Amino acid sequence: MNDSIDTATQQETAERVLEGLGVAPGVAIGPAHVTDSGRLRVREYKIAAGAVAEEQQRFVDAVAASAKQLRKLQARAEKLSGAAAEELGFLLEASLQILSSQRLTKRVEDRIAADRINAEAAVQAEVGRIGEEFAQLPDAYLAARAQDIHEVGARLIRRLSNAPYAGLADLPKGAIVIAHSITPADTVLMDPSRVGGFAAAVGGPESHTAIMGRSLGLPAVLGIQDLEEKISPGETVILDGAKGLVIVSPTAKTLTEYTRARRRLARERGLLNRLRSLRAVTLDGTKVSLQANVELPFEVDAAVRAGAEGIGLLRTEFLFMNRDDLPSEDEQYAALKSFVVAMNGKPVTIRTLDVGGDKLAPALREKLPTGANPALGLRAIRLSLKHRPLLEAQLAAILRVGALGPVRLLLPMVGTPSDIVKVRAVLGCVATRLKKAKVRIADPLPPVGAMIEVPAAALAVRFIAAAADFLSIGTNDLTMYTLAIDRGDEHVADLYDPLHPAVLQLIHHAIEGANTAGVPIALCGEMAGDPRYTALLLGLGLRDFSMRPTGLARVKQRVRAVDVDDATRRAHFMLDQPDSAHISRLLDDKNVEDRTG
Ligand code: PEP
Ligand code: MG
Repeated sequence: MNDSIDTATQQETAERVLEGLGVAPGVAIGPAHVTDSGRLRVREYKIAAGAVAEEQQRFVDAVAASAKQLRKLQARAEKLSGAAAEELGFLLEASLQILSSQRLTKRVEDRIAADRINAEAAVQAEVGRIGEEFAQLPDAYLAARAQDIHEVGARLIRRLSNAPYAGLADLPKGAIVIAHSITPADTVLMDPSRVGGFAAAVGGPESHTAIMGRSLGLPAVLGIQDLEEKISPGETVILDGAKGLVIVSPTAKTLTEYTRARRRLARERGLLNRLRSLRAVTLDGTKVSLQANVELPFEVDAAVRAGAEGIGLLRTEFLFMNRDDLPSEDEQYAALKSFVVAMNGKPVTIRTLDVGGDKLAPALREKLPTGANPALGLRAIRLSLKHRPLLEAQLAAILRVGALGPVRLLLPMVGTPSDIVKVRAVLGCVATRLKKAKVRIADPLPPVGAMIEVPAAALAVRFIAAAADFLSIGTNDLTMYTLAIDRGDEHVADLYDPLHPAVLQLIHHAIEGANTAGVPIALCGEMAGDPRYTALLLGLGLRDFSMRPTGLARVKQRVRAVDVDDATRRAHFMLDQPDSAHISRLLDDKNVEDRTG
């Protein structure tokens, strides 16, 4: 009998490792604060026919009270710093829009009347249905918005049932918040100087909650089923935000390992902070330019903080997501303006729309046919040139923001010089129209550059360079098209290899061609942000890198340890190797040597 009690106690306190999605890196160790936030149990009951109007009014009042509460949170969010404030402001606005949308309110009121049920149950049913409709949408971004709907529903139910809200403001220092779901609005209630991190059952890597975790610098793990039922309040928890682990009741050995890892990360963060203010120069004094790639407005803050010399790639696809119509010139202007203003005189390289094939924005999907082979079909600049109003609106918005600071125009998937010539002609017409209308635009016109991301463009680089003001190598697509391996297909992911000799030859050929033509060339594919490739790319002649803001400090650290003559000799030796396994080995040997030498 005693034995079995002992075993049970031991099992309860034995280390448990729960695996989820690491959405915000870092290590946190602390007591679990388990909240029931997000999982509200709703009781359904029937109401009398005469009580329907009253029940509907109760719902309308709850909507008004929730909207008021959201506006209060908005005021609070404004006091947060940069990226977090912007992201949260955007989300709270989205919640307010959902609350004021007929789609939800009308359907709930109708259901109260049709099923004669209480408002809480009607909200739960309708939120479930709308959430499912969203989740089934083919567009992943839109599908992820199902979570926003659930969040608004939970807020309404909490209000209707007077459920107490689990506060997150006064937690013990270092507490790890564990919940069924954590909304972005919950994260604003967390004080980063007290909360160690958070984990939840619900949410994916691109959810707003994940983005908030990254913005606030809090380690976070999402997607562990029934998480809140697997941890008792006060149990010691380790969060490994990089590996996506929640370790409950760790053994002394695990605790020591993670305490060390946490110290090491803090030291590294300190080092990277110091690097921010240092110049990107090699050991022999060669100056290297490090710029940032940004995809969403809030990322520009990270680019500035990381000390980027400019934005080397602004992907404009975000302007076309999450909507059924095309963004107007004014909307695009307003969005692009925020980047140019934030960069405060540093250059912003704006790429025209790079969607197509299966990734068509909903508004374009109706207008344009999808070919049998989307990756080789009507996409990127080909699509813009076929759909003139789309291109003209983008160019007009870019020309207008060009009056506010230095901008450059970058064209995706250029195949021939005539792509550039055609865009220049449209650019000229749009500029004339705007000038006639007395609209302020960039003067002189912005430089026009081409992505080198299809093998044809890399091979014919001298002709492309003759038509362009600058070039940027997109190794993500260049690798895909050179090797005929879909970059997004997990079945061939192991074959996708930017170190393949053919890819390296093309990168080298493009850099040499641009240098001979005297046209600046950068590289903005994922390779640019991985310090593993820094010495190799410098050795191939690259001097301009553009990457995720989070990659900048590490690449700079690597740049400062490279001797260009030595890197060039080694890179040329690598170009002579028959396969990527050889190249990979040479690369790693050299990287280790530089770190330890
Ligand atoms: C590339 O292809 O390398 C690139 C930078 O563009 P994207 O990843 O947006 O296709
Ligand atoms: Mg590309």
